[in-house]
Amino acid sequence: MVPHEIKISFDEFSSVAELNPGDRLICIEAIKALAGSHSPYSKFKVGAALKLQSGRIVYGSNQENVAYPSGLCAERVALFNWGANYSDDPIESIAITAHTDDFKISQPVTPCGSCLQVLAEYEKKQEQKIKIILFIGDGPVWIVNGSESFLPFLFFEERLAQS
Ligand SMILES: [Zn+2]
Repeated sequence: MVPHEIKISFDEFSSVAELNPGDRLICIEAIKALAGSHSPYSKFKVGAALKLQSGRIVYGSNQENVAYPSGLCAERVALFNWGANYSDDPIESIAITAHTDDFKISQPVTPCGSCLQVLAEYEKKQEQKIKIILFIGDGPVWIVNGSESFLPFLFFEERLAQS
């Protein structure tokens, strides 16, 4: 038996106000994206905004359905929109936030494994990492450069044959 240990790192800022202007802007866009959330079942809104190299912003929000598995996370709504419409314009960053009236969210909400896998796919496609900015209201901001920090064992077919 050989024990292994994997460490991840990310930057924490005390609030959105502490970010550089570009990162602050994309956070504001993610807050705008919350308005498109269709979440009558969880009452938990998630907003995502992609900042593309051209400056274009692509929005996504969580879309729920009475047939639960038919819904989709905010991150993938935004990412698939990009993949279908703007994939020649690389994604520089994604900002993700959440809101519910039911309780106070005290720390950033992290993307689910499926959304991280999609992020990783598009990082590979565009040959460029995506800065991931996670924040909640006036609370802390977590920033990580690239999906692999959050998903070190992400699935890539090339890895299957590595020795
Ligand atoms: Zn997700």
